Parts: sequence; C-alpha cells; structure tokens
Amino acid sequence: METRCGYVAIIGRPNSGKSTLFNRLVGQKISSTSYKPQTTRHRIVGVKTGSNVQFIFVDTPGIHLGGKRLLNRVLNKNALNVLHDVHLIFWVIDRGQWTQEEEHIKKALNNIDCPVILVVNKIDKLERRDDLLVILKHLSIKFSFAEIVPISALKQDNIADLIETGKRYLPESEFFYPEEYLTDRDRAFIASETIREAAFMYLEKELPYSTHVEIEKYEDQAERVHISAIIWVEKNGQKAILIGRKGEMLKKIGSRARSEIQKQIESKVHLELWVKLKKDWQDNPQIVGNYES
Ligand code: GDP
Ligand code: MG
Repeated sequence: METRCGYVAIIGRPNSGKSTLFNRLVGQKISSTSYKPQTTRHRIVGVKTGSNVQFIFVDTPGIHLGGKRLLNRVLNKNALNVLHDVHLIFWVIDRGQWTQEEEHIKKALNNIDCPVILVVNKIDKLERRDDLLVILKHLSIKFSFAEIVPISALKQDNIADLIETGKRYLPESEFFYPEEYLTDRDRAFIASETIREAAFMYLEKELPYSTHVEIEKYEDQAERVHISAIIWVEKNGQKAILIGRKGEMLKKIGSRARSEIQKQIESKVHLELWVKLKKDWQDNPQIVGNYES
C-alpha cells in the first residue's frame, strides 16, 4: 500500500484555533515546545497517523502553537526558517477575518515554496450556510492557496476532509515514526526532558551533560496528572547542589518543571522529584533503555 508522510506546520494568528485544531488532529493534549530530540532538525510537537498517511506536526518558533508573540516575531527570518523545511503548511484563520496580522503572515510566506492550505476555522459560528460561500470566494483571491478547507475545530466538523486534502500534498514515503507515537511513554519522555531542562536552567555549569531524569510514574488521575521523577547524578557533590540549601534548589527546579509540563499537557500536574546517586548509571542497560525513544 502506498503511504505518505511529511512535516506540517500549523500557523496563524493567535486565537484562530491552532491549538484546538492541533489537539483534534493529534488527539492528545500535547503541544510541547520543549521536546527537542537531538536527532532531527525540527521540534516535533505531535504526530497523526492515519491508515496510510502520517502527518508530523512541527513547532514554528515565533509562530508557535501557543503563540501570542506572532505579530512581532513573524517577520523574524530565523524564526521562519522552519517553514522552508516543511512539506505543507496549515494556515488557520477565523472565518473570513482577514486582518493586518494575516497580511503579515502573507508577507512572511512570500518566499516560501511550500503548499499552503488555508484552514477556515469556526464555521460553526456562521449564521447562514450561504455566508461560507461568500467568505471562501473573498479569501481565495488573497493568496495562492493550494486549497481552502472550511472546518470547525471545536465541533470537529470537516476534520477528516482536511486530513484527506492535506494527504495529497505530502510526499510518498514510509512513516518516519511508529504508528503509536505519542503514547504515555512519550509523554513521560517529554516530561523527563522538561525536568532536565529546568535543572540545567538553574545549574548549567554545575551539572554534567549526562545528568539523567527517569520518570518512575506517569499517571492520569481525575483532576491532574501525577508524575514522580528521579534525577540521577553520579557524584555526591552534584546531589548536594541539586538539592540546595534546605532543598531550595530542588524546589525551584520542580516548580519550574511543573509549570512547564502543565502548559504542555494543559492539565494540572503534581510533580514529585527525587535526587538519587547512582554510580555508573550509564552502564545500566535498563536506564539507558528508557532514553532511547
Ligand atoms: P490559538 O491561539 O490559535 O491556538 O487558538 P485556540 O485553539 O486557543 O482557540 C482560541 C479560542 O477559539 C478558544 O476559545 C477556542 O475554544 C475557540 N475555538 C477554536 N476553534 C473553534 C471553532 O471551530 N469554533 C468555535 N466556535 N470556537 C473555536
Ligand atoms: Mg494556541
């Protein structure tokens, strides 16, 4: 069977519905911007696998999924470089609202040679079906869109059509990721990276690169996600630095990591953090195994 696979950026002005669409497409509340696998040039924020297609959604710094900073950063060339590397762009717009911000995005897209599908969102808010035809006509002359697809991300209307349409613009290729990508295991992995990042934010010089975070427990509870994690260090001195005076450093790291993870998974998080000393953990296959994903 022929399969297609490629990188997709979701862009658009704040409040147009990017996060809602993203969550509908990926089917999980992950919109992490801190997951930075060393092996790819992209920050992958979610993967949607259909029966013969795989969309890999990537973060676009400055125009990212939670982006409130779109306007001032959209013309920043560096921030836009990622758009040169994707196979497809979903540009989300709120019905027919073509504002100055849309004009900014349009300018930024001028040098980008990649199909752009205009996703006309929030059609559930239209009072009359006829309004849609008028809007689509009005938008079609704004830019050389490859396609225009009306949807309601909120009501899940026409999402399947967007997937079918988008698929035609992805290259024929095998899947890059396993079908079950972004399972709990991956969520745990992202959480561990976030904790590690928080530790390095405060202790960049004091900690060795090999400092490793293991997620002992990642559990969805009624009102929150419970995460229990161990920061493994190799030396007693590192342990003391991580914990800090009266545990203050660990508290700071934990609080920073917790708030980041909460943003990523859009859920309350209870985070338990431990520091443990492990000689030669790098030789321990069990722990190293956790890290390969
Ligand atoms: P973002 O800033 O582009 O990521 O936008 P969000 O996904 O956070 O959505 C902004 C607001 O629009 C939220 O209140 C959403 O619930 C709402 N919204 C998103 N999609 C739709 C839609 O299809 N219909 C309606 N009525 N509201 C939507
Ligand atoms: Mg958002």
